[in-house]
Amino acid sequence: MPGIWRYMLHEDVLYFRVDAESQSSCFNCPQVKAFGFHPAIRCCSYIPRIPNFLLGLALMDPGTQTIARQFIGSGYTIPEGSQVSPAQMKQSLAFLSNELPIGSVVCPLLDHASKKCQIYAFRSGVCSTFFCRHDQGPIGAEFWESLTDLVTQVETALAQWSLEQSGFDLEAYFKRFEALQTELDACVEPASGTWSEFARRQLFAEWYGREEELFLSCAQHILTHKKDLFEIASRQKLRQTPDYDAALRQRFASEYPARLIGETLPEGEPVAIRSLWYSMQLSHRNLQLNRLKSSSPESSDSRPPSSAKE
Ligand code: SF4
Ligand code: SF4
Repeated sequence: MPGIWRYMLHEDVLYFRVDAESQSSCFNCPQVKAFGFHPAIRCCSYIPRIPNFLLGLALMDPGTQTIARQFIGSGYTIPEGSQVSPAQMKQSLAFLSNELPIGSVVCPLLDHASKKCQIYAFRSGVCSTFFCRHDQGPIGAEFWESLTDLVTQVETALAQWSLEQSGFDLEAYFKRFEALQTELDACVEPASGTWSEFARRQLFAEWYGREEELFLSCAQHILTHKKDLFEIASRQKLRQTPDYDAALRQRFASEYPARLIGETLPEGEPVAIRSLWYSMQLSHRNLQLNRLKSSSPESSDSRPPSSAKE
């Protein structure tokens, strides 16, 4: 897990006991044989949403500074961190609909030769909690999903909070973002499919050209307040871009199934971090009960078969 999680999550997480997922053996990925995953790409076939402060921490680390700079300089990021552009979302939907071949969507942070994540210590909550198979079947899957939901919401809250702390006008930013709903095509750099200069100028405003400085500032605020991050995240009002999201849903509605669009762009009010934390505690308790049950002498091997995520 990224080291900053020690501070981002409730302190009780430190006392959780979670076994390794031995069936998700990434360097000998079972999904290559089972589902034809590309052996070098495996499940890194999407563009992760890495919050600004994690990118700032990656910029501070000599081992990841270069790749973080390349990532930011290639137009993958907006002020909250990396986020897919409208073209990248379309490509992702096409890939998930099997219209595009394996290998057509690949995380730019993956080193194909070594099969290693180049930003491992600063990868997102989704990347850190994804296991394609679960030793404890659906109960294990439920635990990891609840952790994904919690961490992702904490990341979003802290990304927005750290922007405010850096003097970034969050209210004005979300208004500018919503205005892009009528400019979806202009948001895309035609050659790369990443965010265009136009979109990045709109979104970064006075910070355009100083993106690294902004991400470093976000990271510094996170480090300065590291003892209070979970409380800060729990109190943070989460802002969204409902009109921009609706324009994207409408754009793709005729081409892709509503189910896929709904998974890619979920609707509704954000769930409170306290509720997600409560759900995660419950799913951890279920995991422990299941472990005790399956290790008791009377138990037979009634474990449900594990399933691979598409
Ligand atoms: S999580 Fe699963 S699909 Fe992804 S690399 Fe590991 S074993 Fe392969
Ligand atoms: S950030 Fe790392 S773990 Fe996540 S998709 Fe990219 S290469 Fe894979």
